[in-house]
Amino acid sequence: MINLVIFGPPGAGKGTQSEKLIQKYGFVHISTGDLFRWHTKNDTPLGKRVKEIMNSGALVPDDITIAMLKEELDKNPQAKGFLFDGFPRTVAQAEALDRFMKENNTAIHYVVALDVSEKEVRDRIAKRRTIENRADDEEDKLNKRITEYFTKTIHVLPYYEKAGRLNTVNGIGPIDEIFARITSVIK
Ligand code: AMP
Repeated sequence: MINLVIFGPPGAGKGTQSEKLIQKYGFVHISTGDLFRWHTKNDTPLGKRVKEIMNSGALVPDDITIAMLKEELDKNPQAKGFLFDGFPRTVAQAEALDRFMKENNTAIHYVVALDVSEKEVRDRIAKRRTIENRADDEEDKLNKRITEYFTKTIHVLPYYEKAGRLNTVNGIGPIDEIFARITSVIK
């Protein structure tokens, strides 16, 4: 079993690279952003709780996010491996994830951090906005999401670096080249 975290700012290409990783390795994909979007779209009780927060571009509180993640893990007891995308975004989430992995006698084996500059990320999101029309990508929320990444989420990196699990990959270039960089990390 291989478990991997793909990490990077909004617009770094996590979604695109995740799709390719799933195809190659058969991971069960857990994207907390997708899960939250599903809940808000379907107006579930959880969706109602997080809608405003998501629309502001802020992070959903850890207790809510961690509970949703745990539920998703429990739904997939047969998984050969998980790809975590958009989770963890705080050290508390990273600690919870390690705990959940340990409880299942496994671990997070690789953390791949896509290294993309703030400017590149802003350019990409601006482009994506015109294509996908995602509510949380509106101009006024973009700053907030990027700020959340560079002020909060970035602190997760030293947590993994200390444990020797961090692999920083240049996230600029053609999709297939970036993918090759990622797969060269996975043994
Ligand atoms: P994403 O598509 O991963 O950028 O996520 C979209 C939004 O969902 C974020 O801006 C947050 O409001 C929320 N979200 C997704 N994942 C997390 C997480 N791990 N912790 C807190 N909030 C999250």
